[in-house]
Amino acid sequence: MHALDALITQLKTAQKLVVVTGGGMSAESGVASFRQAMIGPWAAYDVRDLATPQAYARNPKLVWQWYNFRRTQTQTADPSVGHHALVDLEQHIPTFLLVSLAIDGLHWRAGSRDILEFNGSVHRTRCVESGHPGDWEEEGDIPPRCQRCGSPLRPDVVLLGEGFARQDVRRAQTAVETCDAILFVGELSAADPIAQFPFIAKRSGARVLTINTDPASIFSVMADVHINETPGNVLPTIVAGVTRVEGS
Ligand SMILES: [Zn+2]
Repeated sequence: MHALDALITQLKTAQKLVVVTGGGMSAESGVASFRQAMIGPWAAYDVRDLATPQAYARNPKLVWQWYNFRRTQTQTADPSVGHHALVDLEQHIPTFLLVSLAIDGLHWRAGSRDILEFNGSVHRTRCVESGHPGDWEEEGDIPPRCQRCGSPLRPDVVLLGEGFARQDVRRAQTAVETCDAILFVGELSAADPIAQFPFIAKRSGARVLTINTDPASIFSVMADVHINETPGNVLPTIVAGVTRVEGS
């Protein structure tokens, strides 16, 4: 069977599906990667100056401005056809969980709802002391202060050296242990716990499905079905195939 048909067949029968996305999906919307975004005045800095807890402790204003810049970049990007296809897929599969490593919030903007943003989002902030979700005005202190407790706000993203939120990881792992199929979409960094997901899924008897242009990645190597394509090129066709009502 053609790989595309095999993938559609697997998704058609799935009652419980986990989808994992990351940098590949962001790239298709033209969102710069962390390194790509380090242009102009930002080229003078090291990642350790901009995106670690130590950097924030040393120079919170600089870290705030960096993530402010990154938020501005994502605001001019639009969800891709791949993002929209995953929204349609979510509405078709009874139990659906999207796990994303992206911080651009584009899945949310496209309309995906059951989503774990493992790395947080550049569109949210929280206060350092108590983790209160923060609203802020563009004028005034940088970083702004929490309106509830006065502590400084920080981006609600996972900085380098910080771990993912434990409750997110637990929920994702449970979903992977109990799903019928897991679909890895686009280029993904193979860091734990995501790199463990194909193994957990296989142990539980679930199918591993992969769409990316890197046959050597762990997700492709572990795949029962691998489509060697970019998400935007095939996801709309796949999802149309999955959601089509037979006989009509
Ligand atoms: Zn607070």
